[in-house]
Amino acid sequence: MPSLPPALSASSSGSPSDASITPAALLRASPLSALEARILLTHVLGWRPTQLITRADEALDAASVERYRALEARRVAGEPVAQLVGAREFFGLDFEVTPHVLIPRPETELLVETALTALEGLSRPRVLDLGTGTGAIAVAIASMRPDAQVHALDRSTDALAVATRNAARLLDAKRPGGAVLLSQSDWYATLDAALRFDVIVSNPPYIASGDPHLSEGDLRFEPRGALTDEADGLSAIRAIIAGAPARLAANGVLWIEHGYDQAEAVRALLIAQGFAQVRSERDLAGIERISGGQFPG
Ligand code: GLN
Repeated sequence: MPSLPPALSASSSGSPSDASITPAALLRASPLSALEARILLTHVLGWRPTQLITRADEALDAASVERYRALEARRVAGEPVAQLVGAREFFGLDFEVTPHVLIPRPETELLVETALTALEGLSRPRVLDLGTGTGAIAVAIASMRPDAQVHALDRSTDALAVATRNAARLLDAKRPGGAVLLSQSDWYATLDAALRFDVIVSNPPYIASGDPHLSEGDLRFEPRGALTDEADGLSAIRAIIAGAPARLAANGVLWIEHGYDQAEAVRALLIAQGFAQVRSERDLAGIERISGGQFPG
């Protein structure tokens, strides 16, 4: 069979050994969305997104083409993009992500914003993040409030290792509030009983055990313990609310992220526990995504 003219072979994105494959050809042939294909390709090439345009017609080396195709195939098989590239942006910061932690979600930025509002007017505020995972919430708050003293807990030592690296890489080592204090704890279990916090935040596992979402999309590849309480979806939230009054400073506040249909139940739990000014906030999709209140005292 006669060999194809160069123009045709470049656009056919044929075998991995084809030295004339270009970024443009790989992106054109990709079964992924344009955005996901670009994220994977910039990751493999170590390029900035704009370089996919300015260098679109450069021939790529065979090893890069092969690495890109391997990631593309894994994405087609369902693996989350954040795990394939090992990172996800949250609150303007680039967090390391592994299969041991929940991938930071945009809606969780609402929890950070609400916590920051609660911290206004306080100097050297004390903050506790329960079930920190990547450390996204704790590190985002610490980065916006360099004077805050931030504690972050997780039951998973694998998650704590990721959070420790994220905090070390993303925060100023000389921030006045000091390093984020990370420790292993099942909710409040091993937390020093003398500590008091102005703000407690958490994005706990809130998906009910039988929820079909657990077997769909990215969730299939995330740690099950970060997603579901293996019960009705409210058991972690109950534990967090029940333990909060003993850990909050006078007039301290608690804010918790929850599922799209849990706001009313979480508000009822907060009120039953004696919280005041109980309310929910809506995310960008208009869903009541977080609920919180202040503990009088
Ligand atoms: N927000 C996640 C989801 O529904 C769930 C995270 C959680 O349980 N905290 O995809």
